[in-house]
Amino acid sequence: MIFETHAHYDDEAFDPDREELLSSMKEAGIGTIVNACASVDGMKDTIALMEKYPFIYGAVGVHPDDADKMTEDTIKEIRSLSRHKKTVAIGEIGLDYYWHKEKEEHLLQQQMFRAQMEIAREEKLPFMIHSREAAEDTLTIVREYMRSGMYGGIIHCFSYGKEMAREYLNMGLYLGIGGVITFKNARKLKEVVAYAPLSQLVLETDSPYLSPEPNRGKRNSSLNLPYVAKAIAEIKGITCEEVIQETEKNAKLLLRI
Ligand SMILES: [Zn+2]
Repeated sequence: MIFETHAHYDDEAFDPDREELLSSMKEAGIGTIVNACASVDGMKDTIALMEKYPFIYGAVGVHPDDADKMTEDTIKEIRSLSRHKKTVAIGEIGLDYYWHKEKEEHLLQQQMFRAQMEIAREEKLPFMIHSREAAEDTLTIVREYMRSGMYGGIIHCFSYGKEMAREYLNMGLYLGIGGVITFKNARKLKEVVAYAPLSQLVLETDSPYLSPEPNRGKRNSSLNLPYVAKAIAEIKGITCEEVIQETEKNAKLLLRI
């Protein structure tokens, strides 16, 4: 069954039909979903989804976009939610310099990223990283933590080139591959997928964002993952089934499900 490692079903885009959509997953071959927290206020929604649906697990954490909304209490809350029996990762955390250009914002994001990496280390949980236009700083921080007893993690929606991929793969980390792989102009990502061993790739959508072809531009959901699996299978010259089985195995191993 397909393992979806990163979606946001707490997003308001799913308000009209969340229940119906999530109830249709099993039948469509989607076996497991990890809902990733993004905002400070969204954490309770991820917990509610984990508690309602047996096949939904959670990553708890706050996205760099919300770094300025985080307080001491937020960090405490993340630590306490990380001990929930269905929490499988700390995420999505990281750096985003695309939407935030000021030096001060970068420093604050780094501080919150580190604080959440500390929780991952102390609670022995994998991390789930968002990194956009922040390649060097992300690598520096991840390297530093990987040297000191981190469990491992996923670089979600991997958007850098082969050289950067090599750095993360050499540390034993996983790359999250989603809808972008189906885009015609995704030359760089296609090179990365050709280069990376299948044993270090996992499937993800980032729903409701980044719908693959042929549904590009529409609301995304895990039901679109077969298009992602097919694109990876074509690049690697293997079957879709192999991609689905291997990436499921990888995700279950890392996230201990
Ligand atoms: Zn996301």
